[in-house]
Formats: sequence, C-alpha cells, structure tokens
Amino acid sequence: MIELHGLSYEKAILYGMPHIGARYTHNGQKWKKNGARKYERTQEWCAICGKPSKNCHHVVPISNGAVFELCTPNGNFPLRSPLFAVCGSGTTGCHNGFHGGAWLKARWLWDLPEYEEAWCNGELLARFAPHHPALYCYGQWEIENTKTGLVIAHRERY
Ligand SMILES: [Zn+2]
Ligand SMILES: [Zn+2]
Repeated sequence: MIELHGLSYEKAILYGMPHIGARYTHNGQKWKKNGARKYERTQEWCAICGKPSKNCHHVVPISNGAVFELCTPNGNFPLRSPLFAVCGSGTTGCHNGFHGGAWLKARWLWDLPEYEEAWCNGELLARFAPHHPALYCYGQWEIENTKTGLVIAHRERY
C-alpha cells in the first residue's frame, strides 16, 4: 500500500499514467520551479468523441494537487496528473462530461496485480519516465460513458 498523502487510492494511483493526446511542456528538473502545470495538446481531436479538441482535462483535478509524491522502496517520484485532449470546456462538450456533467469516468486498469505492485514499489518508475507510453504494456485506460453505456478502452503504443 502506498502513502496516500490524504488522497483516495483511486486518485493517487492515477498520477503518472499515460496522457492521451497531450503532454507537459516542462519535464525533468525544469518543471519543479514553475512549469508543473504547463502543457500542450498533441492531437487535434477529442480523446472521447473525435470532435476538434479545444483543451485538456486533468484526470486528477488540480485541486487534488498538481504534484503527488509517490514514495517507494526504489525512491520517491514526484508525479503529475495524466492529461486527455478533449472537446468543449469545463462546462461544455466532453470536458464537461468529466466535470459538472459527470457522465464520463476514466480509470486505469492494470493487466495483472503484479504490475500494479511494480508501479507502487517504484520498479516501473525506475525504468520508465512518468506518463511513458510503455506503460500500455501493463495496462490501459477505460473511459466509461454512463449516458450511453459505452466503455472506451484506450491502449496505444508509439
Ligand atoms: Zn469530445
Ligand atoms: Zn478537466
């Protein structure tokens, strides 16, 4: 079990997972001063519905903390929320679906409990940078649309 720093496990475990169509522009040591929240879209379409994407959704809301420190036997890893390129805004389109509308819910599913353990004890982070696409070798996003009942599985490797 990881140190949760006041978060729920469900939220804490999402920090550092792969982005969909977006990335942080400040990485490594550079972001620690003032770049932790700076990001850009890398795809023009919404990760949910394919319409033009206008902005990015922080899968773990900024209000929960821009940075979560995952403390492991293999070191401490400061992690940020994954980002999804989405259509609309905080009050319209799919972006609203994650916020006020609340009909979209994203969860990361590990293929095996061992992989989740390897994340929590820092083994995977010792090998891969946060948000690394190689994490799709171990699990995938599932985004549930409670309006339609559809579950979008997202698993890409570059
Ligand atoms: Zn959309
Ligand atoms: Zn958002």
